[in-house]
Amino acid sequence: MHIIIDGQKVEFKKGETILQAAMHAGIDIPHFCYHPALSIAGNCRICLVEVENMPKLVIACATLAEKDMVVKTKSPAVIEAQNAIMEFILINHPLDCPICDEAGECKLQDYAYKYGKGYSRFDEEKVIKDKRIPLGPNVLFDAERCISCSRCIRYCDEISKSHELTFVNRGEKVTIETYPGKQLDNPYSMNVIEICPVGALTSRHFRFRARVWDMSFTDSICPGCARGCNTIIGVRNNEILRIEPRENLEVNQYWLCDYGRLNTFKFVNDINLRIDSPVILKDEPDSNGKEQIEVDWNKAIDKAANLLKTENIKPLIIGSAISTLEDNYALKKFVNTILGVNDIYYIPHIDESFGDDILRKSDKTPNSKGVELLGFKKINNKTIKDLTAGKYNFLFILNEDISAIEGLSEIQLQNIKSIQLLSTRNNFSKEADVILPLSTYAEINGTYINFQNRIQRLRPAVTTIGQERLPGEFSMSRLDKFGAPNDRWTHGKKFNCKPGWKIIKQIAKELGIEFEFENSEEVFIEFCNSIKSLKGLDYDTIGTQGYKIK
Ligand code: SF4
Ligand code: SF4
Repeated sequence: MHIIIDGQKVEFKKGETILQAAMHAGIDIPHFCYHPALSIAGNCRICLVEVENMPKLVIACATLAEKDMVVKTKSPAVIEAQNAIMEFILINHPLDCPICDEAGECKLQDYAYKYGKGYSRFDEEKVIKDKRIPLGPNVLFDAERCISCSRCIRYCDEISKSHELTFVNRGEKVTIETYPGKQLDNPYSMNVIEICPVGALTSRHFRFRARVWDMSFTDSICPGCARGCNTIIGVRNNEILRIEPRENLEVNQYWLCDYGRLNTFKFVNDINLRIDSPVILKDEPDSNGKEQIEVDWNKAIDKAANLLKTENIKPLIIGSAISTLEDNYALKKFVNTILGVNDIYYIPHIDESFGDDILRKSDKTPNSKGVELLGFKKINNKTIKDLTAGKYNFLFILNEDISAIEGLSEIQLQNIKSIQLLSTRNNFSKEADVILPLSTYAEINGTYINFQNRIQRLRPAVTTIGQERLPGEFSMSRLDKFGAPNDRWTHGKKFNCKPGWKIIKQIAKELGIEFEFENSEEVFIEFCNSIKSLKGLDYDTIGTQGYKIK
């Protein structure tokens, strides 16, 4: 079945509206209140179109497409209606784009250019409303900017099902409020910020931190739990300022939870938490006991290699469901081929109170499926008992805090030598013989496998010293393309860290074994070629929406 829109034949499915049919065909019909995940409200009226044999203009979002319908979206009547709606919406709008967080990514701003007249006939005083109303711990409301589209209200009723918001008053006095005694405080509250088509709902954390045109945006994956929601990391001066959802209907639809949005990036920026230089334990302890000192990479790799050459080492290897497939694969290759060890363990991070039936999973790691595919075993009581009983005298740890394991005390770990690849400090890192600074998920190319068995891609959003550049990588290739480094990626603090696979390759080389992979994609391809069902996969196959393992 098809309809004709502006002379173009457009296929549609039974039950689709004119707006949906047009959107699928790439035809632009303006809309504020329509959102594909929400019920139809039909209250903003900017999607008015002309349909042959209908006496009046109709709203495209609420009119079902019917066979052979002829629709016009650019006729004089439609343009006049669009002009009128824009003039009406802007009558009381404060026009404070210069101080509005939404400027640069605002539907109202864009539509004012595209569908407005460019001037107003309104000479009277605008209605004054409150401009900074805290709706909850994370969201602030500017009543003057609100265009009463009701998206936020429908979101709270239909998606988070928390029923916190409603309209009050009528006409020019209409505004939104939380119900008496309630706050906008649910685990998914911040999604209203993006679905608000204007700057009426803003993040209390990002507010006034940057203009969006001064930022770079990189597609990424949330490491907060096993769902692996698709995200966009917003960076300015090499500092992450916000995380937003990226549409993936198979994984997270259009949403993120507030935990993932707020708790997965602050440590990346935090100089007090990060390890910014390789560290080794001084050979001769002074009177105060063990002392760690900062050294250059060569010295640290050298020390790690020498430790591994020590006779009679009995190593316990800890991989990480927080790290990428690439880092864990390199670890596996290293310990299997060089140390001759087959058992690799990982620490599960399960929090039953975190999971829900919207997005959040109780497994708070992004890659447990990945480490399971690599054959890593969950650390168990027996392993911990063996460790404390002296069966192991050496720990090789990738991105984990072993002291957080129940039943293990710091004292029990004190005499165990260790090499630790870490991006942030933890209780046990002060005991390490060598700490090799690990890049975070926001600084590397790599992959995770989520709970649905979907392989998803990380890309570097933040630059570090000596970071790899994959051929064709957007943010990195722009540096190359324009010759001169762009301020957005080179200003600000750059940490002296490396991806795990690269550190492991360097230690292997020091021990006389050359691993062939030269970049993260080559590690990934080597890993995939070692598993029959993944043979032939590369980063392009994964694309922006992930690759579901069959
Ligand atoms: S605050 Fe935003 S999403 Fe909510 S009704 Fe107003 S314009 Fe719409
Ligand atoms: S549901 Fe999980 S993956 Fe998604 S945003 Fe929250 S913590 Fe991150």
